[in-house]
Amino acid sequence: MNYVILDLEWNSAYSKSAQRFVNEIIEFGAVKLDGDFQPTDEFSMLITPKIGKKLSGRVKELTHLTNEDLADGADFLSVAKAFTEFVGDSVLMTWGTSDVHALIDNYLYYTGSRRVPFITRYCDLQEYCERAIGKFDEGNQIGLGRFAELIGIEYSEEEQHRAAADAFLSLKCLKKVMNGYPLENCILKADCEDFYNRMLFKNHFITDLSSPEIDRTQMKFLCEQCGKQAKRVKRWKIRNKSFNADFYCKSCDVKFTGRISFKKRYDGVKVNKRVVRPIEKQE
Ligand SMILES: [Zn+2]
Repeated sequence: MNYVILDLEWNSAYSKSAQRFVNEIIEFGAVKLDGDFQPTDEFSMLITPKIGKKLSGRVKELTHLTNEDLADGADFLSVAKAFTEFVGDSVLMTWGTSDVHALIDNYLYYTGSRRVPFITRYCDLQEYCERAIGKFDEGNQIGLGRFAELIGIEYSEEEQHRAAADAFLSLKCLKKVMNGYPLENCILKADCEDFYNRMLFKNHFITDLSSPEIDRTQMKFLCEQCGKQAKRVKRWKIRNKSFNADFYCKSCDVKFTGRISFKKRYDGVKVNKRVVRPIEKQE
């Protein structure tokens, strides 16, 4: 099996015809790997932007790319075609899913379809690497530079934020943590609608107590002292996207607050519950 680590640079531009902002891709940089994760080929191409003629200051500063550099680039669809040949049937890997979002966005803009032809199997390296070091947390994603620092990989900030350099830095991170977690657990089949629905799904907290997606049986709390079910003594109140209510255990004469949240994700609802502020025995 071969792998391709892809990194993109893009510039956010407003399209008058589409009446929306598009993260217009301006550079593809990638490294191809054999089954032993040894580099076998590289891909690097610039795109002349069509939507936003001028790069934003932030992008210029970050990438050191200039409008003049990009004037010699190719158009998005020719670069994408060349890249499709480069990828072949390799597993596509990116650091985080924002590159996939940008690809979907650009394909949608230029072809009217969200299908990205070169993604048949996909691995989010950010999730994989975080899992491999036991630090996977959806709410706290670790950027590539910070992850490299965390695991003691040296890199020059000056060279980063160009696509190929970022792809190689991702490779270094991957190789260093590889034994920590099975890679196949993070490889998704991607030539199906399910993949696009998953990528475009927006996780959100359910804040309506009457939602049928809330499993009310989860809203019971046990007394931490005796393990028996405590009685809810106040109404549920929503606070910071979680439901909170006071509970009372008669046997122990203990009051506490039960806090529970329901996060709707593509795979289902994730429940998070805990006891907060246990109140000491009343007089
Ligand atoms: Zn108790």
